[in-house]
Amino acid sequence: MEETFDLVIVGGGPAGMSAAIVAARAGIKTIVIERGEFPGSKNVYGGVVYVHEIEKILPDFWKDKTAPIERVITDSRIVFANDHGAMQVGYKTDRFSDPPNVITTHRAKWDRWYANKAKEAGVLIVNNTVVEEVLRESTGKVIGVRTGRPDGDLHCKLVIFADGAQSPLLVRAGIRKEVKAEHVALSVKETIQLSEEEVTKRFGAKPGEGVTFEILGSLADKMDGVAIMYTNKDTVSLGIGANLEQWKKSKVTPYEMIDKLKEHPMIKPFVDGGQTKEYVAHWLPEGGYDTIPKLYGNGYLLCGDTAMLFNALHREGTNLAQETGRLAGEMAVKAIKEGDTSERALSEYDANVKNSFVLRDMRKYRKFPHLLFNNPMIFQTLPDVVGDMIEEMLLVDGKSKKEKQKIIVRNIRKKVGLYRLMGLAWRAWRSVK
Ligand SMILES: Cc1cc2nc3c(=O)[nH]c(=O)nc-3n(C[C@H](O)[C@H](O)[C@H](O)COP(=O)(O)OP(=O)(O)OC[C@H]3O[C@@H](n4cnc5c(N)ncnc54)[C@H](O)[C@@H]3O)c2cc1C
Repeated sequence: MEETFDLVIVGGGPAGMSAAIVAARAGIKTIVIERGEFPGSKNVYGGVVYVHEIEKILPDFWKDKTAPIERVITDSRIVFANDHGAMQVGYKTDRFSDPPNVITTHRAKWDRWYANKAKEAGVLIVNNTVVEEVLRESTGKVIGVRTGRPDGDLHCKLVIFADGAQSPLLVRAGIRKEVKAEHVALSVKETIQLSEEEVTKRFGAKPGEGVTFEILGSLADKMDGVAIMYTNKDTVSLGIGANLEQWKKSKVTPYEMIDKLKEHPMIKPFVDGGQTKEYVAHWLPEGGYDTIPKLYGNGYLLCGDTAMLFNALHREGTNLAQETGRLAGEMAVKAIKEGDTSERALSEYDANVKNSFVLRDMRKYRKFPHLLFNNPMIFQTLPDVVGDMIEEMLLVDGKSKKEKQKIIVRNIRKKVGLYRLMGLAWRAWRSVK
């Protein structure tokens, strides 16, 4: 790798590849270094991708027959579950089918397809290669990276780091602090094979369309866990994420947790009899706004999960990665063409990210991660109480409705407490207002 490049991008996920496409299209000589066998091979997400941000880079991509779209999501549900039941609210509309708003994809196929778009734009992608060190000149300016290959030093005008949430590379280089366990979720996901017809039938969807479930409740062995169930073409993604700090203390393994999920009466009918096709675990940055590192420095930019950009309330990550990747790509083009990749010049990227929906949303929900962390009331008590309340009202057992109301109020008082409930409602409102 003795050739020199204008721009080196570390990581071939949605953030890195978006930056690469934008830069290469503008004539910047760009290389992406990816540690996986191919882009997507080391990655995982539940499969939801937001169309709007991709369209900024690939307009009308969803009309391309080669795009690996699994299903177009037209039905989104939120579920409050206890051990033995669940309450759902949802919204279903044809308006989200053409043009699509959200689609499901398999990450391995999607990243590969997206990488091909980058290649078409002129990006050189080097797989199976780990970036091990950040190269600096005596002033401290970043001037390239050291890879694990023989003669693997790459010098360039600018480096974009898009190497994901963990990033031991940036911790070693002193660019980003080590992420605290309480600021990340460990997410595990199983892909369950059915048939295309079976998925369509079980989820009551139209062919080609699908459903997402976000499931809150006491399913995660007393942890702050949120589960997901997404429909793909002929598979179902079932996953659960919980705080890493709490996983460490939990006696239940992620594998057992997924098995427990599959037995839940709300979930079982959807996945019963399916074959496990894939099982993966990955970090999710959930610390929110207060954990975002400085996004630029002398000779470098950070984007996507590396910059801890994940909207935990709306479960949005790929679109934040995509958008900050695009903005980093644009910044790289400007800085390299003007011959100024100094920290001062690159601060414009920071301003652009702050003006985008990415930082506006992260700032708006700044208090939200604090509300969730170690809060069994949200993840266990309330879903349990809601379940008890609905069960009591639906059960026809000769008690008068007035009597039932009294039982419900007594139950709320005993398990939650009216003042605590009001306090939580106030904190919840303040964390999202
Ligand atoms: C279980 C799970 C479900 C999720 N579901 C959703 C969802 O439904 N919707 C959504 O929007 N988001 C979801 N997310 C979040 C989403 O996956 C991330 O926000 C998104 O992938 C971030 O993209 P990125 O490019 O910043 O980082 P990544 O996708 O993590 O990509 C980083 C890349 O860098 C490579 N790399 C790392 N270190 C090095 C190195 N030293 N040298 C070379 N290469 C390196 C990695 O192999 C990887 O390819 C989910 C995450 C998880 C864990």
